[in-house]
Amino acid sequence: MTKSESIRRAKETIASRRAESIASYERRIAEVSAAVPEFAEIDRELQKTGPKIVAASFGGGDTRAEIEEIRREYEKTAARRREILAENGYAPDYCDMHYSCEKCSDSGYVGIDLCDCLRREIVQNFLESSGLYSLTKNQTFDTFCLDYYEKDDRIVMEQIVGLLKRYADGFDPASSGNLILVGATGLGKTHLCSAVARRVIERGFYVVYESAQGLFGEYEARRFHTNSYTDASEEDDIDRFADCDLLIIDDLGTEITNRFSISCLYYLLNQRLIRHRPTVISTNLRGAELRSRYEDRIMSRVFGEFIPLQFTGSDIRMQKIKKNSD
Ligand SMILES: [Zn+2]
Repeated sequence: MTKSESIRRAKETIASRRAESIASYERRIAEVSAAVPEFAEIDRELQKTGPKIVAASFGGGDTRAEIEEIRREYEKTAARRREILAENGYAPDYCDMHYSCEKCSDSGYVGIDLCDCLRREIVQNFLESSGLYSLTKNQTFDTFCLDYYEKDDRIVMEQIVGLLKRYADGFDPASSGNLILVGATGLGKTHLCSAVARRVIERGFYVVYESAQGLFGEYEARRFHTNSYTDASEEDDIDRFADCDLLIIDDLGTEITNRFSISCLYYLLNQRLIRHRPTVISTNLRGAELRSRYEDRIMSRVFGEFIPLQFTGSDIRMQKIKKNSD
């Protein structure tokens, strides 16, 4: 799902909630009207309020006084309508309009601002389309445990975790920098990448999280389809790597590296730098390995724009396995 599609679907969800609220309101009115004729009559009376106000507004008389009179009449009738409901064994608010979100009446907006209900739906869709959803549900800052790091390693890792939290909490596509998380397997890079992604998504930004293998796999698939037919959704999917507010590439260096993947990487990172769209990369490769694997033009132009964070410690996964078998 692209960014605009995520937003469109969230709006559709809210719109269908509104339609459901209205339908359920109308069903309840029809139900009581059929059972209690007095209710049907007073409900019809109430529904004339809107047209009466319109007539008063354009009538040329003393508009304010007339509207005030209509309002008093409305309140009296509405009170009587609630009484009738109670007298017939219904809850007094049984035939009131009930929205899923009373704050915005299921419109998704409060004034010109997004209501929290619409924002939540958008975040949920962003989360689902980020590539994160089921995979890393538990990899948050709260579940990241520093107990596996000792002495100096722990101090370094505390600083890195603190820095990444501040990065996520203050994330802004226009001003946040690019990070490259460097270190051996099992030091928590993927966990912290997920934690950053989740927090940034929760703040309402569109994040795409992809392994290097998955990313280049999509470019590769696209390359072989280009001349046969045009699949707009596939093109959108590639564009989201370049367009998203934050791109996270996990495990750079585990993909099969060739001229094509190198030029894709260069093109993608360069596009993002030009557009001020931050990228976070994690890699097991050391500086020299990075240099030998990717051509110098990438190294100097692109990686020069990344702040390196060097992870230290000993493999957490191995420690966990050892602990469990002790
Ligand atoms: Zn709302």
